[in-house]
Amino acid sequence: MAPINYSQNLEHIKQRIASACEACGRNPADITLIAISKTKPIEALEAVRDLGQIHFGENKVQELVPKMEHFDEKGDTDIQWHMVGGLQTNKIKYLSDRVDWIDSVPKKKALKEINKRAKASGRIIQTLIQVNISNEEQKFGCEPDDLPALLKAAEEYSHVKVMGLMGIASFTDNPEDVRHEFKALRCLLEQEQQKDYKNSDLKHLSMGMTNDLEVAIEEGSTMIRIGTALFGARDGQ
Ligand SMILES: *Cc1c(COP(=O)(O)O)cnc(C)c1O
Repeated sequence: MAPINYSQNLEHIKQRIASACEACGRNPADITLIAISKTKPIEALEAVRDLGQIHFGENKVQELVPKMEHFDEKGDTDIQWHMVGGLQTNKIKYLSDRVDWIDSVPKKKALKEINKRAKASGRIIQTLIQVNISNEEQKFGCEPDDLPALLKAAEEYSHVKVMGLMGIASFTDNPEDVRHEFKALRCLLEQEQQKDYKNSDLKHLSMGMTNDLEVAIEEGSTMIRIGTALFGARDGQ
């Protein structure tokens, strides 16, 4: 198999972002690309990092921690690290010294623990609340109806900064099928932006992956999470 051309992949993604923005009159500078490097070896991250990529995301604590440590140990501390996967409350303590963003906060218990650990480390951790927008059996994230109470609860947590919402659309071959899910997440954000919660600065919408980034951008995404289009297919998936 030919080696992966990261430079070409990254260029191609940036082009997709630029075209999607042009189609709906948005500024590409308002879209943050998060490189989702789960299952990929450190060399792959280094190659992409060398191309100037700043934001990286992982979905497992046990994979994220050694990758953060590797780059910190070589003095590359400018990377913004995101935890984007199913969050087990008892593992937050392994992340809280270093992680910049926890994008997959599903409930109050997790928020409370992030606050406690961030406080102990003298930090403020940026978070997104993951909202369940898909119609899939396996549900992740808080239900839309529970979001206001969660944002209200965050007013007690001064070491957490809630920066917005994250959603994973239903799995489909046709991205148009999930446009309404992205739209629903944006409506939720707009609704909660009216309320001016303490410890929140609700400006981000993390939605859109390799297959549906264009639709997500058209519907207001500010953070897209790209794995496959950048790093190639993942083994066993
Ligand atoms: C794996 C993953 C992605 C990236 O998906 P691709 O389709 O490979 O771009 C994005 N978000 C989350 C939460 C993921 O786990």
